[in-house]
Amino acid sequence: MKREKAISIQGDPLSIFINKEEIALRVETLAQQIYRDMEGETPLFICVLKGAYVFAADLLRAYPGDGEIAFIRLSSYEGTQSSGAIKTAMGLTDDIKGRQVVVVEDIIDTGLTMQHLVADLSSKGAARVRVVALFVKPSNLKCDVKIDYHCFEIPNKFIVGYGLDFDGLYRNLPDIWAK
Ligand code: 5GP
Repeated sequence: MKREKAISIQGDPLSIFINKEEIALRVETLAQQIYRDMEGETPLFICVLKGAYVFAADLLRAYPGDGEIAFIRLSSYEGTQSSGAIKTAMGLTDDIKGRQVVVVEDIIDTGLTMQHLVADLSSKGAARVRVVALFVKPSNLKCDVKIDYHCFEIPNKFIVGYGLDFDGLYRNLPDIWAK
């Protein structure tokens, strides 16, 4: 059934920026690359809620080996702007000591959220923390956080869909939309 309501942000109409077929291809390739790099280890994928839930679900189903999943929730965004202060809204319940951790993030913008998270996971005793992001906005990076894998580099524009929201909406769109 076709969507009835128009997709817009503050009155500006959005259009498809990256379609679901393109995303699926990249996610599949990336899952295989991570698997090859894991060399028989069973990684613990940590999905950063809420934005990465669709990506993590697809990435894990495309992952051709054993893997576990855990969830964490952080927040630094209000509307289309980062508030700068990173809050842990839901912490990890899993023991990550000695684990090969792969953080699954929707998008890395300033990188401050990821820098904070990687430091936190390393201090909790992970053997290694790798980062996989669906999107990176290289022109906005404000720190030198290591991004081991990413699907797409994008310019500085606000995107929604495939898990990413605007004030809680649009996470369920299968494609990525932008102005
Ligand atoms: P950072 O700390 O890297 O500046 O912020 C990363 C977080 O900001 C992402 O996990 C995501 O929640 C949010 N974010 C950054 N850029 C966008 C965007 O273009 N669209 C949406 N929906 N969220 C974004």
